Amino acid sequence: MSGRPQVIVMGGGLAGIAACERLSRTPSRSFDILLLEGRPHLGGRVGSYYDPDIGREIDTGQHLFLSCYTGTLTLLEALGTRSGLVFYDRLYLPLWDRERGLHPLDIPGSDNPVALAGGLLQYEGLPFLSRLAFLALSRAVPKNDNDVDHLSAYEFLLRAGQREEVIERFWELVILSATNLPSRRVSAAILVRILKESLLRGGRHSRPGYNAVPLSELFALPAMSLFKKRGVTVRTKTRIVGFSESQGRVTGVTTAQEALPLGRSDHLLSALPPWAFEKIVPLSLHQTPLVDQMSRLSYASPILSVNLLFSEPVRLPLITGFHQSAVHWIFNREAMDQRLTPEIRPWFDWSVQVEDDFYPTRVASATVSGADDLLALPDSELGALCLAHIKKIDPTTPASVKSVRAVRDRFATPVLGPGQSTLRPEARTSLPNLWIAGDTTDTGLPATMEGAIRSGYRAAELILKALGER
Ligand SMILES: Cc1cc2nc3c(=O)[nH]c(=O)nc-3n(C[C@H](O)[C@H](O)[C@H](O)COP(=O)(O)OP(=O)(O)OC[C@H]3O[C@@H](n4cnc5c(N)ncnc54)[C@H](O)[C@@H]3O)c2cc1C
Repeated sequence: MSGRPQVIVMGGGLAGIAACERLSRTPSRSFDILLLEGRPHLGGRVGSYYDPDIGREIDTGQHLFLSCYTGTLTLLEALGTRSGLVFYDRLYLPLWDRERGLHPLDIPGSDNPVALAGGLLQYEGLPFLSRLAFLALSRAVPKNDNDVDHLSAYEFLLRAGQREEVIERFWELVILSATNLPSRRVSAAILVRILKESLLRGGRHSRPGYNAVPLSELFALPAMSLFKKRGVTVRTKTRIVGFSESQGRVTGVTTAQEALPLGRSDHLLSALPPWAFEKIVPLSLHQTPLVDQMSRLSYASPILSVNLLFSEPVRLPLITGFHQSAVHWIFNREAMDQRLTPEIRPWFDWSVQVEDDFYPTRVASATVSGADDLLALPDSELGALCLAHIKKIDPTTPASVKSVRAVRDRFATPVLGPGQSTLRPEARTSLPNLWIAGDTTDTGLPATMEGAIRSGYRAAELILKALGER
């Protein structure tokens, strides 16, 4: 013990990593930082491992980034891995529709609202008259997100002039992908926030990005090196089993190995998901609003990721979305290794076919959001289901799946249904030395990497202020 104040951060997911990055930024700081993580590695829900059957490093779940992820970009700059992300120059996504086949959503990467409207109106996956509904949307978006928090995203879209057909054949996939919940289960405030941060600001802020290196190399490994350099103590394989409270302050943390006392000038930041937090809360706090909120947020929606190795190359776009389908996205992993992006073509080049954007690959990853119905299926059936989706966009695809590896994450993201704004805790709690971060906290954003990172940064700023370091 150095005798200096200390900040203990519980949980080394992205929220905990971001918090430690901000807390440790000033070399002359007057306090110590201790990061406790239960698993052998940092990263939490964002990670990767070597799979001998697929013959390469695979992510525990394919993650999609957006150019509006400002907190994520700040963190990656600090970690020195910003170049591990590849962003498209525009919002370009081939989307498959049962009736109309494969058509790209293609929105120029500018701030120009006319370009945005033009891109949406040119999307041929919907009949032209249905597309006109898009134009009504921006007028329906309230200034204050929480004005529509009592509604589901589905109810909001109907009120915003989006017909049932437009919801089913367009918005449902957008909402599922961004929130991991169907439109009828997620709060409209979350959809409104997504629209305000991305699409309504123009194509420049809605450009998709992907990790060209495994997720662990993007976040967890460089975070370990950075923290070592900055003198942050990291203890992995350290499961927290409880913390104690006395007279309105946190007084200690207990891990499976030892008890760590907290003095009057020490702080505790929980960057644990609600389902982990509720298990370690002391009895004395059980009747508090914070614990009540956390336990009501402890329901999670699952994500299923399926990795396929083919015996011979198949041809796929970089990223393909599937409306009204069991599988939602298929990613061309080898094109991503090569850091490819969709080609830029003049809008008047009518000779271009959507197949021109297909690239060969032997490895594909598929994602199913809100995957409750598919989790129990064996890998072989999931492989067949993904192959059937690939054949929807290229019927000549050979049936040559060599290996399938499904990753089932039952606790992928919290359920943020209508009314969520009253449940998500703020960084500051009623205890002056207890702080909360994580994707479930009150960021207004869906439970995403960006939400987790912004929450970690926000909590760190408040702790620095409380320590008199700002
Ligand atoms: C399959 C999948 C796909 C996703 N896709 C996307 C995407 O495309 N885009 C996007 O933006 N977001 C996506 N997300 C969401 C994103 O990954 C999460 O929102 C984000 O990583 C959450 O970070 P966090 O730090 O809040 O929580 P976590 O990552 O859960 O971190 C919490 C940490 O606490 C540790 N912990 C828990 N209990 C204890 C304990 N008792 N003692 C010690 N340590 C403990 C855990 O091991 C973990 O490391 C996806 C998530 C999944 C699962």
